[in-house]
Amino acid sequence: MKRIAVFCGSSTGFKKIFKNEAKNLGDYFANNNIGLVYGGGKIGMMGVIADAILEKKGEVIGVIPNLLRHEEVAHNGITKMHITKTMSERKVKISRLVDGYIALPGGFGTLDEIFEALTLGQLGIESKPVGILNTNGFFNYLIKQLDVMVNEGYLKQSNKEMLLIGNTIEELIAKMDNYKIPKVSKVINKVVS
Ligand code: AMP
Repeated sequence: MKRIAVFCGSSTGFKKIFKNEAKNLGDYFANNNIGLVYGGGKIGMMGVIADAILEKKGEVIGVIPNLLRHEEVAHNGITKMHITKTMSERKVKISRLVDGYIALPGGFGTLDEIFEALTLGQLGIESKPVGILNTNGFFNYLIKQLDVMVNEGYLKQSNKEMLLIGNTIEELIAKMDNYKIPKVSKVINKVVS
């Protein structure tokens, strides 16, 4: 994978472990020549991963909608910044730049972005790997909720498995590298083979 989109919090959270893992992922990207595509912020987890990569002279591409482009939010030191008119345009732009998606701990924005990527995969519009880095079990309840959706008949097990889960960076990247999307028809949820 040449470039990966990372969706993550605009806050750093309360525990150091998550912030440290954002830095570790940034180091991993820089050491392995993987470019980061992200929301373009200098705040929170976003700023931590971007700075880690920049420190090692790696590639950081931001995609930020005009409305978030305040001085206090936008990162001015990155390799390239794309500015979009809307939040939805930003997602399309990000999807055109990357070979896969990773979510780190975050809030609504992070979930919105990673679930949109999954929805595109589910519909067969995209075939890129989508993963979550489950540092310290941060996403355990979310994973449980997906099981509820499967058990209640709202989510196919095969579609649930599109979400790759790694407890470590190496585990997640290995799963993403080996990912093969199930063949889905254009009709939602119909698995062809
Ligand atoms: P959240 O998880 O709610 O903190 O939102 C973070 C995600 O939403 C990031 O992946 C960004 O792409 C986007 N986002 C939310 N707030 C901002 C912000 N102030 N600046 C840039 N991107 C943001």
